[in-house]
Amino acid sequence: MLCVNQQPTSTNAEPWAVYIHVPFCGRRCAYCDFATSALPSAGPAADALKSRYVQTVLAEIGQSAQRPASSVYFGGGTPTQLAADQLLSILDSLRAHGGILPGAEVTIEANPTTAEGALFAALRQGGFNRLSMGFQSLDDRLLAELGRTHSAAEARAAYHVARGAGFDNVSLDLMFNLPGQTLEDFQRDLEGVVALGPEHLSLYSLTVEEGTPFAARAARGDLILPDEEVDAAMFEWAHDWLPSVGYGAYEISNFARAGRESRHNSAYWRNEEYRGYGPGAASYVARRRWLNHADLERWRAAVFQQIDDLADSETRDEDGERRETMYLGLRRLAGVDTAWYEQRYGAPPEAWFSAELGRLVAAGWIERTDTAWRLTRAGLMVANRVFMEFV
Ligand code: SF4
Repeated sequence: MLCVNQQPTSTNAEPWAVYIHVPFCGRRCAYCDFATSALPSAGPAADALKSRYVQTVLAEIGQSAQRPASSVYFGGGTPTQLAADQLLSILDSLRAHGGILPGAEVTIEANPTTAEGALFAALRQGGFNRLSMGFQSLDDRLLAELGRTHSAAEARAAYHVARGAGFDNVSLDLMFNLPGQTLEDFQRDLEGVVALGPEHLSLYSLTVEEGTPFAARAARGDLILPDEEVDAAMFEWAHDWLPSVGYGAYEISNFARAGRESRHNSAYWRNEEYRGYGPGAASYVARRRWLNHADLERWRAAVFQQIDDLADSETRDEDGERRETMYLGLRRLAGVDTAWYEQRYGAPPEAWFSAELGRLVAAGWIERTDTAWRLTRAGLMVANRVFMEFV
């Protein structure tokens, strides 16, 4: 197995995407299974935990960040649980080790509860140029049910705080398929979010993940989600309506004004290399994908003692990578560019996957345009079944 601080052997000095995982939240949401933990309430214990985290992530970057970052994404968790000087010290460390390309997209996720003018202004001035905020809904009943720590009014106010701090590239997350939610409820939510005028929107259907309070409710039979047809109708309505109001559908779950597509996430969908720092962070370098331990102390021990301890590690062979590049690329509505694919693998997708592509075309789920293989509308509705062909 690989040390956390040790990159796979590679002389590659090409830029890579960098992800920083900040594992703290004020309170855990009822549906969330991310690698994150609720912080103790403010005070010395919370401060000590945050300091230990920052010290360790700086060490991890110092040990292994030797390539320039083409994009940087601070996710979580709730990165804005940290103070501005802590967040900026991590960004400075990336600048000092490998560097950040001029004009790189530098995103930070924030929770509306942590929106504060001075914090946001310091982050904007310190080099963050994109802010992603989790709204999830603009319905106070649903927000309470999701276990969110903010109201709809607070979410709207947080958006204006971000604008006031100078963020001119803001992404908002919204969920659908929520308990008791009708298609009309979701339409009202989405219209409310669009009325604010963000540059980017991400939409996710609620899935009940094991080990969450929602899973316990589902097991007891007291979590009633919309029918599958309603879930599908919400998804399809978003894909129909958002482009008509200026948000291009560029990925299954992502919509943007022209030129505001997420460059960081696009690197994942092109199956490019990325380096993740922090507990629970994933990396993909030289065809090797590995995962840091989510437990903060175990991750910290691996970094400082340089012991060979990861949650997971596997290396793809070339066929595995070609397959992955297909199903990740098909997530983008423009699809997999055949000339680009040929340049990367020596032949276009049809040369490698004629049987798979034939079955998918026969099913009506993908199509060949002049330049790409892409999902059809029918394929968009069953995208996971399409991707399974390449797994
Ligand atoms: S704020 Fe986000 S990461 Fe934190 S518990 Fe809620 S959904 Fe999970």
